[in-house]
Amino acid sequence: MSGFVFSEKPIRIDRGEGVYLYDTNGNEYLDFGASYACTPVGHCHPTVVDAAKSQLEELFYVQASYPHAARTALYAQLADVAPGDIDNVWLCNSGTEANEAALKFARHATGRPKIIATTRAFHGRTMGALSATWKNEYKDGFEPLAGGFEFVEYGDAEAMAAAIDDETAAVILEPLQGEGGVNPVSEEYLRSVRTETEAAGAALILDEIQTGLGRTGELWAAEKYGIVPDILTTAKGLASGLPIGATLCREWIAEDAGNHGSTFSGGPVVSAAAGATLDVIERENLPAHAATVGSYIREEIDNRLGDSIREIRGHGLMTGIEVKRGSNRLLRDLALEHGVLALPAGRTVLRLLPPLTIEREHAEEVIDAVEDVLT
Ligand SMILES: *Cc1c(COP(=O)(O)O)cnc(C)c1O
Repeated sequence: MSGFVFSEKPIRIDRGEGVYLYDTNGNEYLDFGASYACTPVGHCHPTVVDAAKSQLEELFYVQASYPHAARTALYAQLADVAPGDIDNVWLCNSGTEANEAALKFARHATGRPKIIATTRAFHGRTMGALSATWKNEYKDGFEPLAGGFEFVEYGDAEAMAAAIDDETAAVILEPLQGEGGVNPVSEEYLRSVRTETEAAGAALILDEIQTGLGRTGELWAAEKYGIVPDILTTAKGLASGLPIGATLCREWIAEDAGNHGSTFSGGPVVSAAAGATLDVIERENLPAHAATVGSYIREEIDNRLGDSIREIRGHGLMTGIEVKRGSNRLLRDLALEHGVLALPAGRTVLRLLPPLTIEREHAEEVIDAVEDVLT
């Protein structure tokens, strides 16, 4: 199991504000991804704190069979911002659960067994989602996993078309892979997968747990590519770090989704925090801001460090820097020498997933720090 970020020199965080985290010694860190994309509007955004606090004082919990205002409002808000005609919402507590529900719903609605996932995919660690996850290191020793899963090369439209048949319940994929190395695919590929799944009567599940909520420059990456999936999953930063997941479905899935449930589905406090987070993302126009600052970061790093790296890729504020050696040492140096927290994505990729609220000056600081540790 994973423990401290740097076992020999653990950083103990006890406070967060905006784009910064503070450790117990009062050191300041720019949070460029260490919070796993869970803080799209920054740490402890006052609007989100207020919403969660007042809800906490009014009603902590009520079972999901009684409607309450915060959950009902969140259903409406998610349906409103979801791409196209997706307007049914299932709420849960994490990304893996959102995908778990997506896989169950797709099987039930289609009455078919087969799920197609892609190489290098990451969809979570519970048995179903893990069965759609690529890397063996996440699966070793946990077999047998769920049956009926098949993998095809990510980005290969022909292989995907060949794999989809009349036994296929769903294709699940990330519109831009995160954990697997920050791997983009072409619009043509995504459109082709959309066309092929539709023609076969199979569901397209887009896992937007990392790409969603404005990170790639649109509220959802699906919008960037002009496609509407049958099911879209979101989690991570939806409630600014309180545990939540959502499975958004088109009508044909929702009306025949089968029997599913969860004790904590759409709890009052997380629902209030999620509603407020979505409000801030919209009010502050954060997707467009992410597009501008993100492009700047990639262009600058490419201009200044093109020779010292293999590649830089991504969209909006989701960036992967493929380096020429292991990324562990670099991540350590960034944190301990420059106060910049970043993430790996595999062994040789530095992943930057900052809050969408970062300003140009924060981008500059990180670009300088990356330059320093790389040269
Ligand atoms: C993080 C992540 C998940 C899993 O979410 P958890 O909340 O950790 O279960 C699934 N898919 C993608 C694309 C993710 O980035």
